[in-house]
Amino acid sequence: MKIKSAEFLTSATTLRNCPRADWPEFAMIGRSNVGKSSLINMLTERRNLAKVSATPGKTRLLNFFTINNRWLLVDLPGYGYAKVAQEKRADFNEAVAGYIEGRETLLCVFVLIDSRIEPQRIDIDFLQWLGERDMPHALIFTKTDKQSPAATRANIDRFKQALSAWRAELPPTFLSSSQTKAGRGEILRFIEQTMAA
Ligand code: GDP
Repeated sequence: MKIKSAEFLTSATTLRNCPRADWPEFAMIGRSNVGKSSLINMLTERRNLAKVSATPGKTRLLNFFTINNRWLLVDLPGYGYAKVAQEKRADFNEAVAGYIEGRETLLCVFVLIDSRIEPQRIDIDFLQWLGERDMPHALIFTKTDKQSPAATRANIDRFKQALSAWRAELPPTFLSSSQTKAGRGEILRFIEQTMAA
């Protein structure tokens, strides 16, 4: 997919004030500093579409971007301080939960994982939460330029191991670097194919 246009559309604080659900939608979520803003800028080839933040976890808004006048990319704030698997909804970001559970045009949630960091409970819990809701999702392991391919592979295997308690296979998985643009083609192709399906 060629990115012909990428524009900020609007921000929302809850599902209720999201823009009209007219277009297929893909959301991105991950812990602060995982490289989400950099990835959005890399995918869209826009230097500053999503701000690369110096202050982790500052924004709590859902930010919508219109891509090619055809689909929406949604930058979600972090999970909060979730024990999501235990249904402690009070600790979870209600806006994010409400959006994911209620947005009918949402086709896939991309969960970003720093490829250098060993599996974290909060990521595993969130993936389980998505699975329990039958919400289609994919994994993007970020910042792969920062270590060897072997080290990235080893960490993905550890992640798979951590997930294996409750699922046999990983969801679709991508490796990315906003420095080298690795993963860009694969992720955009996956989005294209998901819209066509
Ligand atoms: P966010 O908080 O998830 O939006 O993360 P940012 O996109 O703001 O990135 C956090 C930090 O990681 C910044 O200093 C980025 O420059 C750096 N970073 C993000 N992605 C990459 C990457 O793919 N490779 C490298 N080397 N650094 C990255």
